[in-house]
Amino acid sequence: MINSPPVDQPVIPWLDNGRPREECGVFAIHGNQDAAALSALGLHALQHRGQEAAGIVSFDGHHFHPHRDLGQVGDIFGDPSVIERLKGEAAIGHVRYSTSGDPALRNVQPLYADFHFGGLALAHNGNLTNARTLRQELVSRGALFQSTSDTEVFQHLIATSAGGRLIDRFTDALSQVEGAYSLVALSRRKVIAARDPLGVRPLSLGRLGSSWIVTSESCAFDIIGADFVRDVDPGEVIVIDDNGLESIKPLPKMKQRFCIFEYVYFARPDSLIEDRNVYEVRKRIGAELARESHIAADMVIPVPDSGVPAAIGYAGEVGLPFELGLIRNHYVGRTFIEPRDEIRHLGVKLKHNANREQLMGKRVVMVDDSIVRGTTAKKIVEMVRQAGAKEVHLRISSPPTTQSCFYGIDTPERRELLAAQHDVEGMRALVGADSLAFVSVDGLYKAVCGAARDKASPQFCDACFTDEYPTSLTDLADGTEKSQLSLLAEIGRR
Ligand code: SF4
Repeated sequence: MINSPPVDQPVIPWLDNGRPREECGVFAIHGNQDAAALSALGLHALQHRGQEAAGIVSFDGHHFHPHRDLGQVGDIFGDPSVIERLKGEAAIGHVRYSTSGDPALRNVQPLYADFHFGGLALAHNGNLTNARTLRQELVSRGALFQSTSDTEVFQHLIATSAGGRLIDRFTDALSQVEGAYSLVALSRRKVIAARDPLGVRPLSLGRLGSSWIVTSESCAFDIIGADFVRDVDPGEVIVIDDNGLESIKPLPKMKQRFCIFEYVYFARPDSLIEDRNVYEVRKRIGAELARESHIAADMVIPVPDSGVPAAIGYAGEVGLPFELGLIRNHYVGRTFIEPRDEIRHLGVKLKHNANREQLMGKRVVMVDDSIVRGTTAKKIVEMVRQAGAKEVHLRISSPPTTQSCFYGIDTPERRELLAAQHDVEGMRALVGADSLAFVSVDGLYKAVCGAARDKASPQFCDACFTDEYPTSLTDLADGTEKSQLSLLAEIGRR
């Protein structure tokens, strides 16, 4: 029942793949004697949403049992004795991506605290846009924070609520926060799950026999043989206990603004979100990209793995061969903790290698999902060219990323985003491609939902492409420039 000792583990920025990184995935299960083992498997399926840390808290009817650590799920929970210690028929779990320079185990979730009504563990995916404001208010009233995580803001709001029952305190806390959250909680009697009123981050409900499961993506159901039931509705709170499942909607109803970038990159392609198979959506985005910007070429290649479905869709649309012109090494891990300076620049080659025989003398359309800083794109274009490609035409299955995300995705500060500093021709010149094109915002919408963007009331969150944030950014209301505020968002996430 004791947490693991703090272990600071270096992250490896030079292995960064140059894309925005997802912040978290959550998993909760109630009514299963293998709750901890199933949670570990579920977290393993969610590993793409965060590779830096993971944790599970279980409850055995008398005691809570937490285990949290830095590292990947298999490393943390691979030892059967760890799972054996996590006793009980209810558990919640979390995987986390923590930013460079943020080593603290104190921030690894689920966070646990003893309240006067009993223990409560909490884990969430997303980012609150008024966390700093709420934190300052709470501190001024005497609250002592042990972590820099938004999740602890939830804990203090629950602790200080005047509500009587836990669920009243819980919904009182939800009514005070702004931003994006998909949240799971474990008390002595209940598993509680909640999704923000805009439904920015995904959250799904599933069933395994008589057990209920709530998790970030449906791929976590598949690994344990559970059935997908439905998405948790925006603004919905689900309470699961021995009496079954209760759904309440205590927050004002709002139009859903799901993160459209989940479809482009973050979610696993085999997940089902809003009744859409993510893989099929990505193929449709690739086809739309081809209709908007195709150029004469001999073959279509993806930047693997995330560019693969869009490249298949692109190739199918224009009738060109789809080839694996780049081969990805899947075994890049923590082996190279302290690279020598001389080999540091080879980082991108650790992950991708050009398939020279395929590329030699060819005009290549290369499909990737996004350009963030542009450094990876530049290296990959160079690699394909050095392998003998005659022309390299880069096609991107998202619109230019011009803004930072404040809803739980780790994007760099705006000034570091290539598209915030250059037009398409400027970006093309910098990455060294023969041509460069991005799918349009309307094209992306059509591929995802079959309709162009409703300008008056957009169907999704697309703020990183349009600068139209669907919530107030309260923590930015003091006049601080947005370009400086990814730092604040980062502070909020820690
Ligand atoms: Fe998703 Fe972009 Fe909105 Fe962030 S700003 S939630 S990445 S669409």
